[in-house]
Amino acid sequence: MTTERYRVAIDLNACDGVFACLVRDDRFVESEEGLATFDPEAAESVERTDDTVAATFTDDRIEDARQAAAACPLDAITVENGEL
Ligand code: SF4
Repeated sequence: MTTERYRVAIDLNACDGVFACLVRDDRFVESEEGLATFDPEAAESVERTDDTVAATFTDDRIEDARQAAAACPLDAITVENGEL
């Protein structure tokens, strides 16, 4: 496994609080609104707008985030790596 920097975003308009993501990656947590967000302790930074919550990570767990994205039935999660 290699360490890399990547960004994971949740489209809050698509997220429906199914929480399949939480089971795949424990850095996803339930927000006060009953939707998904990120554990701020686990991320380098977490940015929130009305439509999106996005977290930046630098670690070797991008596969966990990809599994969470693949498990989301509403396709609300995107994972981007490379130049951030
Ligand atoms: S699996 Fe998708 S829809 Fe369900 S809580 Fe996670 S991001 Fe939201």
